[in-house]
Amino acid sequence: MCKGLRIVTIDGPSGGGKSTVSRALAARLHFTYLDTGAMYRAVAYQCREKGVELANSEQLAALLQTIQIELLPPAAGEDDVRVLIDGKEVGALLRTQEMGLLASQVSALPLVRKTLTRLQQKIGESGRIVAEGRDTGTVVFPQAAWKFFLDASPEIRAHRRAEQLRGKGEEVDEQQLLAQIVKRDKDDRERTIAPLKAAPDALTIDSTGLPVEEVVRLMHEKILASF
Ligand code: C5P
Repeated sequence: MCKGLRIVTIDGPSGGGKSTVSRALAARLHFTYLDTGAMYRAVAYQCREKGVELANSEQLAALLQTIQIELLPPAAGEDDVRVLIDGKEVGALLRTQEMGLLASQVSALPLVRKTLTRLQQKIGESGRIVAEGRDTGTVVFPQAAWKFFLDASPEIRAHRRAEQLRGKGEEVDEQQLLAQIVKRDKDDRERTIAPLKAAPDALTIDSTGLPVEEVVRLMHEKILASF
């Protein structure tokens, strides 16, 4: 029997293959895929659009009170979930390296975390979701039935991310990307609230030498064993 709500959490550093694995696993289980990183990216994007100073807590609070973030299944032939901010589709604009770095800064702010954590918990209140992020097993859904932490070497993560971005037509300097990934992970791991770390009851999988299908198979097997 599963020990809590039927929620799967997959946390880990950027570029570890979380998104691909989470999407595939959600499809296999017929669960909803919850991309929490997309929500942090959406807040980061809107702060930039509205010229909100991150240090100005009044401006930030006003933005968080009114922002409407909707996550919809990917469009046909696309990988990433569709993101609507206040009804307007922002899609690919959120998926740049720049927005990843800004999301990392925004995500260290307590008010942002509180707001998005609540929203994520609301989405997951009936279970049947695969949540992907940095703190989904530790903070957002500590009662989740199945928790995974997906890691891989920084070099392979930078390489995978470079391939992804090239696939989207972006020009990439892989060394620079590696440096950015290492910095973002360090910031995510060292922040005081909801740092990136494995929950004590999470199963850590190192995907460095593993194909995506194998990671999904391992997780699926583990879940079915206690469904
Ligand atoms: O996963 P993704 O790269 O889209 O996340 C962007 C940034 O959002 C991360 O670097 C991290 O700082 C932040 N994030 C977070 N907590 C989550 C998901 C993402 O702090 N649950």
